[in-house]
This record gives sequence, structure tokens and C-alpha cells, in this order.
Amino acid sequence: MIEKFDRLHGLPDGFFDISTANIRTLFPNPTLIQLDGKDPNFLFISILLHGNEYTGLKVMQRVLAEHAQDLPRSILLFIGNVRAAEQGRRFLPGQVDFNRCWPGHTLESSPTSQMMQRVIEIAHGLPLFAAIDIHNNTGKNPHYACITDPTLENQNLAARFNRVGMVYNHRGVCTMAFNGICPAATLECGVPGDPKGIEHACRFLDDMLTLDELPHTKPTRHALHLVESHLTLNIPEHVSFAFDPAADADLRFENDIEERNFTPIDPHQVFGYTRVARPISITDTDGHDVTDDIMRVEEGKIYLNNTLMPAMLTRDKLVVRQDCLCHLLQDYLAHEVEL
Ligand SMILES: [Zn+2]
Repeated sequence: MIEKFDRLHGLPDGFFDISTANIRTLFPNPTLIQLDGKDPNFLFISILLHGNEYTGLKVMQRVLAEHAQDLPRSILLFIGNVRAAEQGRRFLPGQVDFNRCWPGHTLESSPTSQMMQRVIEIAHGLPLFAAIDIHNNTGKNPHYACITDPTLENQNLAARFNRVGMVYNHRGVCTMAFNGICPAATLECGVPGDPKGIEHACRFLDDMLTLDELPHTKPTRHALHLVESHLTLNIPEHVSFAFDPAADADLRFENDIEERNFTPIDPHQVFGYTRVARPISITDTDGHDVTDDIMRVEEGKIYLNNTLMPAMLTRDKLVVRQDCLCHLLQDYLAHEVEL
């Protein structure tokens, strides 16, 4: 069984007026829209794979309004989890995560993964210029592009969005399904609806609509600082925490902890304070517990053993409990040299 999705050729009336709250009046199901432009090499764009991350909708409304009469390049637009979007949720109970079930995923086959399989088959049947998946995240982070395959084309694609880019390899993400087919990147555009994130992604897409080809030369370190996300920090359920060093809690952080995103923390800088022996658990990309390799506790202070950069640090306690406290990044280049 395959999840029902709709296919349109051209934008439906009312596209520029909808918000996520009423999106299903226009798109009752996930929808794939073909828009013909001057250059027949398609830009595949996916939005709302996570229903609460609505920057992508705003971006497409603005970009398509600007180019309504004269689209420089054809677009294949996939509008993903409309049911979750309607309710402002990442995904709904009983649904699978719409950005973990694309070809290459390791989950059991589901109607949603079959739908993604079909969307990819349709996309692969067209001449493709690049594939862009638009997302938001939590906490105070720079805008950055994620690539799953650090080819030179993908590095150049990431560099056109920002000078910091990330290599990641979550199985079943949309971007990974385009590896070997066309350049592909996920855009992280700050918190949902952030006007700067919308503006930034609009400028990037304008560039993608008019660019002839991506360079095949390696971007300089100044043009792209490529980092890798390989560690996830979680706070165990029984550990209480606060963003106030003076609070009565097992684990405490400075109030301005979000300012430390994408800032290196060396082995002598205090990461946090604790009154328990194991206040944090750290797992690598294979899910192995590597807590003791990565951090140490000395006299109630938490230190990292190596210089690493946190990303997606958030003070949102619900997100910390449901997702994680943060990820730790290292330079992708440094990792390559180690190999
Ligand atoms: Zn997302």
C-alpha cells in the first residue's frame, strides 16, 4: 500500500495566500507539483517534510511570486507532511518521520516510504539540476546546509548557502536519496518563520534558479568550513537540569548556553556543572555509548576531552527531553586527515 499523494502541473489558485493552518484546503494530501521553466533541468525542492518547519512554505510563496511570469528553471516541488503542518507538529502520532523514510532508510517499509520511493522515481525520470530540502531547527544556530555525500559539487552547493556546512548521514533523509543522481543539500534555516532564514533561503534559491552549473573545484576553507555531526548528547530521564548555575538541579548550564552553538569548546572550558556522576549520555552515530571517551567530570564541573563544537543547543526543555540537548561537531577535514 502506498500513501496517497496528489500530482499537479502548475500552481493551484490560492497558493500565495495559504498558511500551514489551512494548507489542507488546497493540499489535502502530500503533493508533487511540476512547474515548467525556461531551463528544463529541474530543481527538486521539498518543504514541510517536518510539519512545524514552515519556513519552506514562506520561501516558495515568495520565490514563486517573484518568478510567476517567467520561471528561469523548471521546479518539482514536493509538499510533504500536510497533516502535521496543519497542526504545527513535526509529525503526528502514528505517522513516520517524513524525513527518515526516503530510499536508503533502514525502517520497515510503510505506505509513507512507498510514497517517497515513488516521488524519487518520478524525480529521477527527469533531468535534475539539484535537490534542495528546506528545514528549520531549534536554538540559536547559524543557517547552514547539510550534505550526506561530500562530493565537490555538494560542497560548492553548501558553500553557496553559508560558509559553514555539515556532513551528516542519518539514514532515510531526502537529501541522501539524490546521492549519485544530482547535487543535493538540506537547508537549516534557523527557527521556523525566522525572517532572516526565509530571506537567506530565497536568495539561495534565486541563485539555484539561474546558475548554469556548480563548480567542480574544492571550495577554500574560507568559502566553506565543513563540519561533521557525529555525537549526540542526551540528559537521562532521572537527571534534573536547569539553565542557571545556581539552580537546585543535578545538571546546570549557563543561561546563555545557546550562544555557544558553532563555537569550539576546548578541554579546559567548563561545559556545565553537576552534582551527579553521569549527568549526560553521549552516543555516536552507531548508537554506541561513548560518554567516557568524550567528557569528564572534575569537582562538579563538566569538561570535554577534545575541542568540539556544539550545535542545536537549546534551552527548550521539551525539545531537550524529546530530541536531545545538542550535537557535537568536529571538522570534517580533520577527520579526513586522521583517516
Ligand atoms: Zn526538519
